[in-house]
Formats: sequence, structure tokens, C-alpha cells
Amino acid sequence: MEQRDRLMKAAVFEGPERMSVKQVPRPECRMGEVLVKVKACAVCGTDIRIYYHGQKNVIPPHIIGHEIAGIVAEVGEGVSDYEADEPVTLVTSVGCGKCKYCQMGYVNLCPSGKALGYFYSGGFAQYIAVPREAVRQESVLKLPQGISFEEASIVEPLSCCINGQDYLKIEPGDTVAIFGAGPIGRMHAELARAGGASRIILIDLSPQRLQLARDCSSIDCIVDVEREDPVEKILELTQGEGADVAIVACSSGKAQQQALQIAAKKGRVSFFAGLSKQNSTIELDSNIIHYKEISVFGAFASYREQYLRALELISSGKVKAMGLITHRFPLDRIVEAIETAKSGIGLKVVITDET
Ligand SMILES: [Zn+2]
Ligand SMILES: [Zn+2]
Repeated sequence: MEQRDRLMKAAVFEGPERMSVKQVPRPECRMGEVLVKVKACAVCGTDIRIYYHGQKNVIPPHIIGHEIAGIVAEVGEGVSDYEADEPVTLVTSVGCGKCKYCQMGYVNLCPSGKALGYFYSGGFAQYIAVPREAVRQESVLKLPQGISFEEASIVEPLSCCINGQDYLKIEPGDTVAIFGAGPIGRMHAELARAGGASRIILIDLSPQRLQLARDCSSIDCIVDVEREDPVEKILELTQGEGADVAIVACSSGKAQQQALQIAAKKGRVSFFAGLSKQNSTIELDSNIIHYKEISVFGAFASYREQYLRALELISSGKVKAMGLITHRFPLDRIVEAIETAKSGIGLKVVITDET
């Protein structure tokens, strides 16, 4: 094979605010690995953070991006479950396979876990080699019929939202309040609706994002924090009882406190989004939890079985993924894509080879 055939285009993160699109060696498909040709890779909030600030698990130069859909390009020796051209998506977390969390399938909680797009090379490139450990834990998931690559690229964030909501046990009759109208907040709204929630309230301060949410059938009420106090408004909307479920899908300690204040008795609260490392302590009136019998849950990443459910929800149309994707860019314009995602003018931004 000629030398140039062994190269691929990739967006290489070289340090905060430094990313260049260039030719790099195409990864080999070694024993036990699967080489995937990337068709779509969505921009995650963590990609934005890595681009601007770096991250301890990402050592530059490195290819990031973990919301990946593509086709199998090659299978390594010893891999028999896949064939060329099969459309697939990839589970991000790669566990050690031995610890108690991995044994239970919770690879996202593995203390020595690694991840695609962090420790391993990611999807902002023409190809990604799925490491042997990931292939072994069946991280390469075949796409069902009726799902596009773009839609499949947002299976990863949706699976994370499923992980968050698995704790919340949303059922018909529930009022669900969601803080944050970004892509993650909107996915939570879609999931809550699919789970039968009776009323979904979305809270944000971005006029663009509130505008985008206005004609969404999964949202019943919008609270504009610039104009009204979310605690007062939600209590008013619920005749003083509060919301059965509150999900904080924005990195705001204040929103976390408000979520506790607006939770109904026996309410379930998800601190879905993490806070910045420098600012992760909040003031918490623990009596609210005590007297109202509130449960507070965390959520971090997701595991394989939740990806399968996310795939099913999107391919069946129960979650309308296309409505969550507002911008598409070719790999060459990765920096513009990240800036667009950060600006909050839209929802999900996807790097696709079809633009
Ligand atoms: Zn993500
Ligand atoms: Zn483990």
C-alpha cells in the first residue's frame, strides 16, 4: 500500500485552544481490535471543556471525541462478531473487567476505567481503532435499522441521561422539573416524556435555548430565570407541592440548591451535571432532605445496556433525535463546531463526513 493510503485526517488537540486538523498515521487494526471509519461524531460538553482547559486524562497531542457512529472498516485477527461496512456506535467507558463494578456491568464506575476520546484516541478523525479491551467487553454496538449516523452519534449522551433517570423512577402522574435547556436538558425532557411523565417544566436563562424549546412537544412549561424566580414559579405551577422529580442538567450550584427547594415530598433529585472543580461545594439545607424525604442521586457516564436502550428509543422514534441536532460541520471546521457548541445558540453539534 502506498504511504499516503496509510494516513488519515484527524483533529489533533495540542493543548488548550490549540487544535489542528492534519494528516496523521491511520491506526493499524491489530489483533482483537476493530477499526471503525467515523461517519459522525457529536461534540460533548466535555469536549468543549477539554478544548478550552485541557483535562488530566487527556495528554496532548491527542484525538478527542467520544460520541461516535461509523462503519466497520477492518476487523483484527481473532474478532469474528463484526464484518466490514456494518454500521456501529461505540461504548465510551472501558473498564478493567475485574473489579466489582465491571463484574456488575457498571464499567462507567470502574476505578481504573479508561475511555475512548480521553485515554484512548477518539472520534474526531476519519478512523478510530477500538482497543482490544473495549472489543472484548462488547463496546462495538451494531446499529438497528432506521437510525442514521447522526442520530447514532447522540446515543452516548442519551445513554448518560438514561443512567441519570434510572434512579428517578419517573412514572405517569409525575411533574418533572429540568434545570438547563441545553442538549442534555432536552434529552432528559424527551426521556421523561417517553417514561410517561405528566408534566415537564424546563428552566433556563438563555433566550435562544428557551426559544428552541418553545415548540417541543416534550415540554409543557418554560421558566425563564431572567424574568421569574424558578422556585416561586414552580411552587406556583404545582399548587405549592413542588415537583416530584428535579433534574439539574446545568453546571450550577445555585440550580442544585433550587432543585432541593422545589422538590415535592418524596421527591427525587438528580445532580446530573457536575460542577467545576474549583466550585463544587454548595450550601445545602439538609433538613429539606430530612423532612421532605427527598432522595438525591448522582450520575456519571453510562454503561452498555443503557446504550442499547438509547438505540432502541431513537430507532423507534420514541426519542426524536433529529430535533436535538441543530448544527453540522465537516472535520476541517472542528474549532468552529466547538465554538458553536459552547455559544449555546443551538443544541447538539455534530461533526459529519456528509457536510
Ligand atoms: Zn458525551
Ligand atoms: Zn473495573
